[in-house]
Amino acid sequence: MDDGSLRTYAGYRVRYDDSRGPTKGGIRFHPSASVDEVQSLAFWMTFKCAVLGLPFGGGKGGVAVDPKELSQLELERLSRGYIDRIADFIGPEIDIPAPDVYTNELVMGWMMDQYSVINRSITSGVITGKPLSMGGSAGRATATADGAFHVIQELVPRLRESGRLEDKPTEETSVAVQGFANAGAELAEQLDREGYRVVAVSDSRTALHAPEGLDVAELRRAKREDGELRAGVDDDAEELLELEVDVLVPAALEDAITEDNVDRVRASSIFEVANGPVSPEADDALAERGVPVIPDILANAGGVTVSYFEWVQNRSGLFWSAEEVADRLCERMLTETAAVWDLAEELDTSPRVAAYVHALRRIGEAVDAKGSAEIFSRPAVDPSGDGAAPR
Ligand code: NAD
Repeated sequence: MDDGSLRTYAGYRVRYDDSRGPTKGGIRFHPSASVDEVQSLAFWMTFKCAVLGLPFGGGKGGVAVDPKELSQLELERLSRGYIDRIADFIGPEIDIPAPDVYTNELVMGWMMDQYSVINRSITSGVITGKPLSMGGSAGRATATADGAFHVIQELVPRLRESGRLEDKPTEETSVAVQGFANAGAELAEQLDREGYRVVAVSDSRTALHAPEGLDVAELRRAKREDGELRAGVDDDAEELLELEVDVLVPAALEDAITEDNVDRVRASSIFEVANGPVSPEADDALAERGVPVIPDILANAGGVTVSYFEWVQNRSGLFWSAEEVADRLCERMLTETAAVWDLAEELDTSPRVAAYVHALRRIGEAVDAKGSAEIFSRPAVDPSGDGAAPR
């Protein structure tokens, strides 16, 4: 610590499944980080990468710390200390971390530098979400919103065609966005620009609702200046989730819609930009009512997709323009979104189940293709000597 004392923090890194390639997943700094949570998130990443067809397995990391209590120098020492402990099992061909809750490009830059010192070689491909000056990719900052925008653009017409959304022009299609931060605010602005009617946005303190539509660009500008949404004109932030809108975008935290409030949710469709905003019980209730929920592992996968592009650029040494990144992201999001939708139709199931089936098929193919090395490497004789049959 800055005062010369020593403090110890618990940290974790889980590599859940590497059948499809090096594991990939963020690092979070949060007081409640635990091995159970990190393992669940690594499982989630395994499926998210497979849905998008990225050549990665799933991983995740965390340190149990409240970063707001640390000075910038303490945060840097913690970040470097964490890499010291996990350096043996990360690497561009092994496991590639990225930012997550309360970590950012500054932290990723320190971590890449620390790994490079240990490795005696500048290794930009060990981590993604780095500053542009250290090998980051153009387009990373808006990647999650860009990806979600493509998913919405691809699916709204299909939802209309299939009768699950009322058939009306884009200008009359209403949208509410919970969580006016990195992902949500950028997405709201893109939808507004495209002509959708963004009728409500919220952050943890304020919700704004205007049935005729909000000026999202102006709200973002004001939020940048004031650090929060315009105060004083607020509705109850929870009520946003209960508005009768065509498209509801929970882009704040997990468990926004649970069995406690699902009965009051009147949206015609839900796109999960946050991770896990709809609880399993609420998901069942919405499915019963025929409300389509487009799952997080598809709707917010733009971020990890551009992380993949960053890793590719680091390994090739050739950097792409913002347009090239945007074009490649668009193509991949549209292809995989269409594949998930078609599978849902074919199997007559929800988009969520279809996304998991789509991912699991790809993971299964990789497991099958690997053959039986794992079986051969098991001991032929039971080493415990208790006579039980070898496994
Ligand atoms: P963030 O973590 O910077 O901020 C979250 C926002 O949610 C804040 O503005 C906060 O005020 C708001 N919020 C909290 N509780 C709320 C409530 N009850 N009602 C309304 N707003 C509330 O945001 P982010 O980086 O945009 O991430 C948002 C979500 O998207 C998270 O679930 C994150 O895991 C997920 N996600 C983000 C990315 C990314 O690249 N940023 C990628 C994948 C997934």
